[in-house]
Amino acid sequence: MTGIDEKLQPIFAEVVRRNAGEPEFHQAVHEVLESLGRVVAKHPHYLDLALIERICEPERQIIFRIPWVDDHGKVQINRGFRVQFNSALGPYKGGMRFHPSVNVGIIKFLGFEQTFKNALTGMPIGGGKGGSDFDPKGRSDGEIMRFCQSLMTELHRHLGDQTDVPAGDIGVGGREIGYMFGQYKRLNNRFEAGVFTGKALAYGGSRARTEATGYGNTYFVQAMLQKRGTDFDGKTVTVSGSGNVAIYTIEKVQSFGGKVIACSDSSGYVVDDAGIDLDLLKEVKNVRRERISEYARRRGSQVHFIPSDKGSIWDVPCQVAMPSATQNELSGKGARALVANGVIAVGEGANMPSTPEAVRIFQEAGVLFAPGKAANAGGVATSALEMQQNASRDSWSFEKTEERLATIMRNIHDTCHETAEEYGAPGDYVLGANIAGFVRVAEAMRMLGVI
Ligand code: NDP
Repeated sequence: MTGIDEKLQPIFAEVVRRNAGEPEFHQAVHEVLESLGRVVAKHPHYLDLALIERICEPERQIIFRIPWVDDHGKVQINRGFRVQFNSALGPYKGGMRFHPSVNVGIIKFLGFEQTFKNALTGMPIGGGKGGSDFDPKGRSDGEIMRFCQSLMTELHRHLGDQTDVPAGDIGVGGREIGYMFGQYKRLNNRFEAGVFTGKALAYGGSRARTEATGYGNTYFVQAMLQKRGTDFDGKTVTVSGSGNVAIYTIEKVQSFGGKVIACSDSSGYVVDDAGIDLDLLKEVKNVRRERISEYARRRGSQVHFIPSDKGSIWDVPCQVAMPSATQNELSGKGARALVANGVIAVGEGANMPSTPEAVRIFQEAGVLFAPGKAANAGGVATSALEMQQNASRDSWSFEKTEERLATIMRNIHDTCHETAEEYGAPGDYVLGANIAGFVRVAEAMRMLGVI
C-alpha cells in the first residue's frame, strides 16, 4: 500500500476485500487514492461524508447470459456485463468491450476510470462501462450480428438516452454499434439516437467521433510539449496497437509533422523507418481485418515484423511513445528501455496501459507523462457532442466538431496542469487528473445528499 495516505489505507483495504480477485480494479483505485491524500488534508469533509468509499462502489452491476448460434448451428454462450458506476454528473456513459479477457474486474476498472475521465471533460456525463468475453476474431459478419442482437435483447432494458449511453471500445467499432443500436431500436420501437454514440453518420453519428480518441491524445501531448517549448514536428514516435485509437493517433501525429516509425497488434510489431504508410495500415486493419505482419509483407523488405515473443515495441528508440492498445501493456522493463533511449513524452491513448512501476520510472526520469483518463478523454467528449447533436437534431461539420474537440483537450490539459500546481506537485499530470476529476464528482455527490 505504498503511496496511499494513512487515512485512506482502510478504504483501499476494504475495496480489496470486497472485490477479491479483481487486480485491475485494485490497481485503478490504488492509483487514484495515491493522489487523494492531499485532497483530504485540505477538505476533510470528504472523509466525513464517506465520499471516497461511495465513489469506489459502483451504483449498479449487471451480469447476464448471451446465448447465440454460430455458423455451424452450434449454440454458444458468452457472458455480458454493464457496470453503471456513477451518475452524479449525468447518464452513465462509457464503451462496450468485446475481448476474451473481459471479466467483471476489468469492466469495473474501466468504469471507475471512466467516471473521472468524463468529469474531466466538463460535460454532463456519468461513468459506466460494459462488454463481453466474446472473441470477435475470425467470426463471420452473421455471427457478429447474431451475437450483438442477443446481447442487446437483455441489455436494452437497462439503457436509455437519459439513463445509460454505451459506445465502442476494444473489439467494438461501427459495425457492432450498428447491430446493437438496430436491435435496441427494434425492441423499444423508438428511434432514440442518443442512446448510443459512435454511430455511423448515416443514422445519427457525429463527424470526427471515429478520429476523436487518437486525435485528442495527440492534442493533449502537443499541449504538454508546448509547455516545454517544443512540439511534434520532426520527432520520432511509436504508437502501440493498430485499432481505432492507434490509427487516428498516427494520422494526427503525422499531420503535426511527427514521424511514426512503429505500431503493433497482439501478434507483434512492425518497424518502418520511412514512416508508417497510413493508407496501407488502414487497408490491412480496417478493410481486410488482417494481422500486422501483413503490413510488413505488403510494404516490402525495408519493414520488419517482430513477433511479440521476440521483442517489444518499447525497445524501438523514439522521442514520444503513445501506448494505444490495452491495459498494462507497458511494464517497468518497457519504461526503462524508453527512458534509456531518450523518450521525452508519453501519452496514454489506451486505458491504464502503463503499469504503476512504468509510471514511476517516467516520472522519476522527468518524462512528460499524460495519464489515459485525461489524454484519451477526447473520445467520450466527442460522444457527448454526438449526444448534443442528436438532442437538437443537428449535424455539425467535421471542422466544427474537431475544433470543439481541440478546445476540450486544451482545457483538460490546462485543468490537470493547474490542479497539480495548486496541490503542490507541478508537472504531475497524474495527480492533476485524479484530483480534478475526483473533486468534480465528489462535489456533485455532496450536493445530491447521501446517494
Ligand atoms: P480496437 O479493438 O480498435 O484496437 C485494439 C488494438 O489493441 C488492436 O490492435 C489489438 O490487437 C490491440 N490489443 C488488444 N488487446 C491486446 C492485448 N491483450 N495485447 C496486445 N495488443 C492488444 O480498440 P480501440 O483502439 O478502440 O481501444 C484501444 C484502447 O483505447 C483500449 O484500452 C480502450 O479502452 C482505449 N480507449 C478507446 C476509446 C475509443 O474511443 N475507442 C476511448 C478511450 C479509450 P489485436 O487485433 O491483435 O487484438
